[in-house]
Amino acid sequence: MKLDLSKLKLHPRETEAFFLQAKGNDDLLAGLGGRFLDPVEVEIVVEHSGTVFTGRGKVRTMVQLSCARCLHDFTFPIEAEFMTVIVENTRNDQFSPDEGFIFFDGETADIMPMVEEAIFMAIPICPLCKEECQGLCPVCGQDRNSATCSCQEDTIDPRWEKLKNLD
Ligand SMILES: [Zn+2]
Ligand SMILES: [Zn+2]
Repeated sequence: MKLDLSKLKLHPRETEAFFLQAKGNDDLLAGLGGRFLDPVEVEIVVEHSGTVFTGRGKVRTMVQLSCARCLHDFTFPIEAEFMTVIVENTRNDQFSPDEGFIFFDGETADIMPMVEEAIFMAIPICPLCKEECQGLCPVCGQDRNSATCSCQEDTIDPRWEKLKNLD
């Protein structure tokens, strides 16, 4: 996902808006059992500050995730904002990529690393198909969203359990 900064390079203190689209990299979501359903759309306004380029972007896409409770796949819309600072790689003595800067060589800068980070941050640690998802029965594995099972669950409060062990 490349920004063409050649025009902006000639005009310090000016801004330019970009609209970009790219296919999402499914490897990013593989660890979550997910994948991209839509292309990744980015709207970014880049300002040439005189020494560096600062970008404020919005990313939008749709991903498929696996519910942490019932394990069903579900669709999760992503809308996230991100900021980035783009630096010409002749200045890599002053800026480090570890600090989140994006370097560019001449005319174009690849902002995909920042976009992917924004997508990743927008995904909940414990993704749920719906807030009130009932999950699976720990005894028989029945999806409690679609049917109830007759398993007896040990519903003893753990605090009582502790008291029981006292005598
Ligand atoms: Zn679920
Ligand atoms: Zn059950």
